[in-house]
Amino acid sequence: MTIGHPIIKFDTLESTNKTAAELLNLSKVQHGAVILAHEQTAGRGQRGRSWLSEPGADLMMSVVLKPARLRADEQFALGKVAALAVAEVVRLLVPGEVRIKWPNDVLVDRLKIAGILIKNEVVGELVHSSVVGMGINANSHDFPEALVATSILLESGRKVELAVLLDHVCKALDRRWKAYEAGESGLAEEYVDQLWARGRWAELLLDDRPVMGRPVDVDRHGRLIVELEGGEVAAYGLDRLRFAPR
Ligand code: ATP
Repeated sequence: MTIGHPIIKFDTLESTNKTAAELLNLSKVQHGAVILAHEQTAGRGQRGRSWLSEPGADLMMSVVLKPARLRADEQFALGKVAALAVAEVVRLLVPGEVRIKWPNDVLVDRLKIAGILIKNEVVGELVHSSVVGMGINANSHDFPEALVATSILLESGRKVELAVLLDHVCKALDRRWKAYEAGESGLAEEYVDQLWARGRWAELLLDDRPVMGRPVDVDRHGRLIVELEGGEVAAYGLDRLRFAPR
């Protein structure tokens, strides 16, 4: 089954992830279904933070995936697949440098152009189903400065049709997902090659305390491996570590 079949469109939703999860619970959607909203009134980021988008200008979508066999402790593979797919599409459309900010935001230079929020349903040791929410700033151009955001329009000087963008995202995701399921290697390397701030000292918050750290790699559980100032190298999950607000 191909990602993007069917595409279910709504005018206004609280969030595409919420509706996708509801439809999934009712068995009304299968692998590959995409939920799309013209307007999202309560879009979410990590830790319940909000994701803002301009109705009709930006892409707000959630994809339903049913992994054949994805171990719960390796679920971050999905985050890598999704971030690489979005980064690949953004790279097609803008000239700036595209990077993935761990765990799965996409930046152009240092500005955020897309956010990804994944909710997995785990049964036993396996991921039974997954909802991959993506917000891509397409044609918005008036971001509050505090957002440190940009859009395809701002970066390329050209409007992008949301239907075209959606098609690119579905195809990129489908290709990368099938490659992953087929056991192709290279996912981890590709992800880490595109990691924002890799090898550079960055301001981080470890257990809410500011520290300087140098991102080195991401392990198979999705934890960021950082070198801290004392020279110690350790892996931390999102529960303990994040980039300090910019
Ligand atoms: P940050 O990027 O600020 O370190 P984060 O990685 O935790 O935060 P997410 O949870 O992925 O961020 O996304 C939510 C945050 O993204 C919000 O708190 C807001 O700062 C920012 N944001 C919200 N809407 C947008 C948007 N359309 N474009 C870019 N950034 C946004």
